[in-house]
Amino acid sequence: MTCIFCKIIEAEIPARVVYDDDSVIAFMDIKPINTGHVLVIPKEHAESLKEVSPAHLESMAAVAQKVAAALRQALSGKCEGINLHLADGKAAGQEVGHVHLHVIPRYAQDGFGLRFPQHYGKIPPEETDSIHKKLRTLLEE
Ligand code: AMP
Ligand code: ZN
Repeated sequence: MTCIFCKIIEAEIPARVVYDDDSVIAFMDIKPINTGHVLVIPKEHAESLKEVSPAHLESMAAVAQKVAAALRQALSGKCEGINLHLADGKAAGQEVGHVHLHVIPRYAQDGFGLRFPQHYGKIPPEETDSIHKKLRTLLEE
């Protein structure tokens, strides 16, 4: 087995686990963006959003909600915000090939964030209309 997160699930390598049930495990990120950064992963190996089962994804979201509430308490109410972040694919920033949901405590001045591209606010409305139509059709199927 080569997947590093599967090794954490199997306790083959150590992790600071904060939550564990039949379908999901959550542990401290080894390189936290801010103190308290947690990763929530499914206990089935799934590389991408497409591969993970809807039931596991639902459990991940529910656990992330619990972790976020616990973090706000653990950080003594000083936490100013929380980001839930899931990078699906290399271009989106995914480095570990086992789907995972980041729970990141945030502060207004922490210097972390997604940058807006140059074309932000300039996407022609026709492009949005076109993708809107395609999505409606695909999601009705
Ligand atoms: P991503 O870039 O979305 O794929 O995020 C992968 C995350 O996994 C990074 O934030 C890493 O710091 C974290 N990470 C990698 N290896 C470990 C590990 N052994 N234990 C805890 N976190 C890890
Ligand atoms: Zn895995």
